[in-house]
Amino acid sequence: MNPHRDAAMLLLGDLIGFPTVTTESNLDLIEYAADYLRPHVDDLRLTHDDNRLRANLFATIGPMVDGGVVLSGHTDVVPADEHHWTGAPFVAMRREQRIYGRGTADMKGFIACALAMAPRFAELALDRPVHIALTFGEEIGCHGAPLLIEDLVRNGPKPAVAIVGEPTEMGIVTAHKGCYEYTTTITGMEGHGSQPAHAINAVQYAALYIKRLLDLAEELRANPPENSPYDPPYTTISTGTIHGGSARNIVAGACTVEWEMRPATRSDARLVLDSLRRFEAELGAELGGEASIVTVAEGEVDGLETDPGSEALALMRELLDESDVASVPFGTEAGLYQRAGIDAVVCGPGTIDVAHQPDEYVSLEQLEACLDMMEGLGEKLSKD
Ligand SMILES: [Zn+2]
Repeated sequence: MNPHRDAAMLLLGDLIGFPTVTTESNLDLIEYAADYLRPHVDDLRLTHDDNRLRANLFATIGPMVDGGVVLSGHTDVVPADEHHWTGAPFVAMRREQRIYGRGTADMKGFIACALAMAPRFAELALDRPVHIALTFGEEIGCHGAPLLIEDLVRNGPKPAVAIVGEPTEMGIVTAHKGCYEYTTTITGMEGHGSQPAHAINAVQYAALYIKRLLDLAEELRANPPENSPYDPPYTTISTGTIHGGSARNIVAGACTVEWEMRPATRSDARLVLDSLRRFEAELGAELGGEASIVTVAEGEVDGLETDPGSEALALMRELLDESDVASVPFGTEAGLYQRAGIDAVVCGPGTIDVAHQPDEYVSLEQLEACLDMMEGLGEKLSKD
């Protein structure tokens, strides 16, 4: 048994007890983690959102130098509908060799392992630092991680590698698509249904906009990137919601379209956004006057494209004694680290199949595998 397993289980129990649903504050959890970490770390920084309801934590164990390894986990969880759960979602429950609770797999199990290892990292004479990064707002478009990474890039030290512990059953994941989310609002001019020429129909303009999204999606489908590891292999675009108009006999004055794109490559994303910018300029000119079309980016989370020769990949292969790599269909914060020049991979305990589901769990065996990996990491980064 890994000697840190019991500590990790206790910590996980506490972490599950903080109902850090994305829309709520995560400050209680961050304060708990900070209090726990302080005796073991050499530096600890928080970065907050604008209204200071949520915070990221970034702790460093070891020398304050570049070239360290980040263990990165998001603190927020998706909501849990109690009626569908066997037990209470925010009370950790052990049944046989599993721990149940919201966030056990996604991804407080990983965070618990990182925290449990902090005293161990502190007792090793680390040559390069281990960093623990806890972020907020991941589930609604990675709102926290960019602030944390910006702080890192500006103030250092700059890590070499980030291990993002989303549930991969401790497999090495080197690729996932990006997830870009947008809200497009068309403001027209209301009018009587019998006189459409005297009004500007926002719903009809929205239809033109969605048609353009469909055309772009079709073009992307016909041109998947070579050797794409994804299913489906091409970049997708999907319209999620449309809200507009007030009555059948009133020309719609406003319409909002929520849509998303999952780019297989960054160049696909650029192609779509450039094309839409031109189209919006055309539509805007046609709309004229007070009418407008405005697209707001709700979140632009880059995909992960780990280079086969990357340091992160070599490190994980060594720690896990495993050479296979995989791609996953979900987005993570790893692409954000990569964009900042920090080599990233995704690897964490538990399975994505139970994430966002009732009776989410992580197995003790997975927690131990994660702790073993972290023990190896500590030894690797310490002086001989
Ligand atoms: Zn997650």
